[in-house]
Amino acid sequence: MIKTVAIAVKKAAQKLAARQISDVSGIEAQALMLDCLELSDQSQIQTRAEWTLEKTAGLKFESHINRRLAGEPVAYILGRREFYKKQFFTTPAALIPRPESEGLVDVALAHIPANKKRRVLDMGTGCGAVGLSIALLREYAEITLSDVVEDTLTLSKQNTARLEAQNVRFVLGDWYEPLKDEQAFSLIVSNPPYIADNDPHLKRGDIRYEPPVALLGGADGLSALSKVITGAPKLLQRGGILITEHGQGQKQAVAALFAKAGFCGIHSIRDPAGIERIIFGVKP
Ligand code: GLN
Repeated sequence: MIKTVAIAVKKAAQKLAARQISDVSGIEAQALMLDCLELSDQSQIQTRAEWTLEKTAGLKFESHINRRLAGEPVAYILGRREFYKKQFFTTPAALIPRPESEGLVDVALAHIPANKKRRVLDMGTGCGAVGLSIALLREYAEITLSDVVEDTLTLSKQNTARLEAQNVRFVLGDWYEPLKDEQAFSLIVSNPPYIADNDPHLKRGDIRYEPPVALLGGADGLSALSKVITGAPKLLQRGGILITEHGQGQKQAVAALFAKAGFCGIHSIRDPAGIERIIFGVKP
């Protein structure tokens, strides 16, 4: 029997579902097939459903599905992921951008006027998704992307080139250390590692393939958040904003760190799943 695109996708989805690799196995099988057919839009699959799956595309699809069956994240197999309506390159050098982090961009944009020069820092930028999304929508702002891992910063540079952002520069180093003698920023945004070292969640799903340096926040998950929050006032102008993402159940502790560091106007925001996920505050 000749294998059509639709049959190949259906069989692959069944395999992924049977091994409980994903709760959205149909969507994943389609996304992996789109890549093999060199198409970009999910709807294009429907019009090609009855096409015969050619040999080259078929082999590539088999390889993609086998990698997925072994547990590898779809974003690493495809080498990209959408965030704030743009495609970003993703590699195991950085966290895969997640929808809940889009809230960081929403809060940042609400605090950066469209036509004013503002110095903005994305601390621990990873693939650059948060800082670059801001850079593309606030062309007068000067965005600094910083990271401690050189390969990760390289990935953020590749994404900057891919998206043709002009208003971006890069700093390699440990948190605020390389920036300590710089002019202050008007906004700092950060999605630091915040998972507790022994969190059982680390043994399941995509996270097993992501870099521990981007995930682990010490015994209570708060060690990096504490550094980011405590060090921020020195590098923020008066009236400057700090925005951080945090883990489930960390809201009270993170809000307390903001208050202890002298921030006022401390607000908490929920993610699309209704979980308290982002805190921001103003340096008086
Ligand atoms: N949101 C990620 C997760 O829970 C973790 C991201 C982070 O540590 N900054 O899987």
